[in-house]
Amino acid sequence: AKNQGRNNYQFFAPSMNESNMHRLELEHSLRRGLEKNEFTVHYQPQIDIPNNSIVGIEALLRWDHPQKGIISPAYFISIAEETGLIVPIGEQVLRYACLQNKEWQLSGLPPMRVAVNLSPRQFQQQNLVQVITDILQETGMEPHYLELEITESLAMHDVEFTIKTLNELRKMGITIAIDDFGTGYSSLSYLKRLPIDILKIDRYFIRDVTKDPGNEAIVDAIILLAHNLKLQVIAEGVETEEQLNYLRSKNCDLVQGYYFYKPLPVVGITNLLLNTFKK
Ligand code: C2E
Ligand code: CA
Ligand code: CA
Ligand code: CA
Repeated sequence: AKNQGRNNYQFFAPSMNESNMHRLELEHSLRRGLEKNEFTVHYQPQIDIPNNSIVGIEALLRWDHPQKGIISPAYFISIAEETGLIVPIGEQVLRYACLQNKEWQLSGLPPMRVAVNLSPRQFQQQNLVQVITDILQETGMEPHYLELEITESLAMHDVEFTIKTLNELRKMGITIAIDDFGTGYSSLSYLKRLPIDILKIDRYFIRDVTKDPGNEAIVDAIILLAHNLKLQVIAEGVETEEQLNYLRSKNCDLVQGYYFYKPLPVVGITNLLLNTFKK
């Protein structure tokens, strides 16, 4: 029994230390990355499907790591969230996206909305509205061209606070989208009360929409629900022509996905916009 105890200890202890070390290391390099300005933004077009035209762009955080190259937020977002580092990182994303959108407008492109993801931690900041107001002022970007994406679970966390904050943001002219819709556990009666403009159907449901009747039923229901609530619908993760045709046949408003464009770095998206709109 004594031996076994020791073995158990040895079995568990190193792996626990290892994962703690990994977390600490990651937190440390996130902090360093923030100081060294290693965070950057890639941009993915949103397409209006009746007209096949680019009408919006989602800003997606990237970590341009000096050794590891470009890293997706999937690898670090939860630690950034837990440590609170997502607050300064997210503010940076918002600032870059507003500045970039203003630059595109100044270069003569037709004005369009830029969508920025807000993490739960950011949304809970008491000074969020002020932070956003300051960034808009500082960059000269009109609130009308900013969209904020929040997740369903966040919105449902403290409904009264969420409603109050969203009302303030919308009064400024900002558009509000619920991201990853269908994956959280929201109550539909709350959804009706939320002052929002757009529902984004999660990629998970789109993936098999033309193969899985269950997903088809869910996608159809979300589109009808959104339209009945006078909301626009965006389908994310559209990768095939079949998915696109299906969504078009169901009157989905906008799509986003690899079928049209992957998220692109600043130079790539700027060239794409210039080639598309300034022929
Ligand atoms: P999301 O907000 O749901 O963003 C959509 C994700 O799907 C992006 O992953 C995008 O690159 C990917 N995607 C787009 N089209 C397709 C497609 O056709 N197929 C597939 N397989 N994937 C597609 P990404 O950029 O790696 O971001 C992952 C998640 O990280 C985002 O999911 C979002 O939750 C979070 N995130 C990204 N940027 C930010 C940010 O600035 N702040 C915060 N708080 N979270 C962010
Ligand atoms: Ca999003
Ligand atoms: Ca999403
Ligand atoms: Ca998602």
